[in-house]
Amino acid sequence: MTHHGWDALILGGGPGGSTLAASLARRGRRALVLEREKFPRFHIGESLLPRSREVFVELGVDEELDRRFLRKYGARFLCCTTGRESTYRFEESFDPKFTYAYQVPRAEFDHVLLEQARKLGAEVREQWEATDVLFEGSRAVGVRAKNLLNPSEVTELFAPIVVDATGRDTLLASRTRRKANIARLDKTALFSHYRGTFRPSGQDEGNIQIVIFEHGWFWFIPFRGDVTSVGVVVSSEWIRQKQKGESLDSFYDRTFAQSATAREILGGATRLRPVGALADFSYRIDQLAGDGWLFVGDAGGFLDPLFSTGAHLAIKGAALAAEAIDHALTTGDVSRAAFATYEANVRYAVDLFLGVVQSFYAGQFRETLFEPNQRPTIRKLITSILSGDVFHVERRPPWASFLREHYPAEVPTFV
Ligand SMILES: Cc1cc2nc3c(=O)[nH]c(=O)nc-3n(C[C@H](O)[C@H](O)[C@H](O)COP(=O)(O)OP(=O)(O)OC[C@H]3O[C@@H](n4cnc5c(N)ncnc54)[C@H](O)[C@@H]3O)c2cc1C
Repeated sequence: MTHHGWDALILGGGPGGSTLAASLARRGRRALVLEREKFPRFHIGESLLPRSREVFVELGVDEELDRRFLRKYGARFLCCTTGRESTYRFEESFDPKFTYAYQVPRAEFDHVLLEQARKLGAEVREQWEATDVLFEGSRAVGVRAKNLLNPSEVTELFAPIVVDATGRDTLLASRTRRKANIARLDKTALFSHYRGTFRPSGQDEGNIQIVIFEHGWFWFIPFRGDVTSVGVVVSSEWIRQKQKGESLDSFYDRTFAQSATAREILGGATRLRPVGALADFSYRIDQLAGDGWLFVGDAGGFLDPLFSTGAHLAIKGAALAAEAIDHALTTGDVSRAAFATYEANVRYAVDLFLGVVQSFYAGQFRETLFEPNQRPTIRKLITSILSGDVFHVERRPPWASFLREHYPAEVPTFV
């Protein structure tokens, strides 16, 4: 078997794949990324969390991101049904190392990260589609890939590590693993970009605004300039009952009729692109790594976007995967056991978020979010979660134990 000299084949060049490639390249490892699309390309998932900046700084890309994108210092939650609202600023968290994140049109953001992977020495092939992961027994050994510019060109590539970072496509998991829906999270999102929505002024301009209404919630994610991403997340059941053959554009407009607050923020804004939709988007995969393979980002699971957690889990998860892969390559043990810590750390982080998100939909955490005389520690706790402080690799802080105890994640069992 020829190894073509790569240490790792990475399928997908989204934030997970590109961060992994950049982190491996920084460690002197030879990474090859296969990305189906030609970047820049549109993608959903535009509000980042401050803690991802730990990784951006490490990869030397934080300053460039700061030059390009609007800073997000916090999150403003508004409740239509009660008229209450609450703004959380990241500086209030327990460990406020990073007090802001970025709001990013993903076409540009993903492109910057992929270019950074290239600059650091990773090889990136765009418009190459991975079609199969190749196994020898239980061990992944390579990939079959197709050059989309010349579809008769199909190649087999080999390396000791194969990483699936194909996002919601879940290339490998769909074929070889069990994938389950998550309780309470059967939702659908509709979204578009607008010019001219209302924004708070000053430092709060870049805050994400979340408007909660009877059937779900709206997001308003402002970009530098005057474009804002606006979306709504509702239960899939509600859409099935209400849409009834209506076009997405018209149904989306009608959804705003449900919320005076969302209409107020939208104001007379102009829609810039057709409404997109994604249904049933939360899922969990039974395993995150095996012999010679790992999942990074959405390829290994996805939880509701309520707290803008997806890109962070992909980015920080990728940084941890790079560490595990680097170590495995050094020792020569690339079996599942070599990635057990990676898997445990990612699961821990996902489940901290998941418990809180599920409790939000059940009502309890939503109450806490809007409590008028909130205790300062509760405020800090919420802000810490909103900052993405969920990877406690060395030490699990007491507030996180409190969260796990009071908002335990309800996860599917794979029997
Ligand atoms: C409605 C909604 C709203 C969201 N809002 C937010 C938010 O505000 N903030 C946030 O952080 N996250 C948000 N997310 C989540 C976010 O979009 C994802 O978690 C994030 O993009 C995951 O990154 P990734 O690198 O794992 O996957 P992706 O970003 O999906 O990247 C995967 C890449 O793999 C490529 N690919 C796929 N198949 C193949 C193949 N066979 N061969 C080669 N390449 C392939 C794709 O072209 C793509 O570029 C949201 C998600 C949804 C559904």
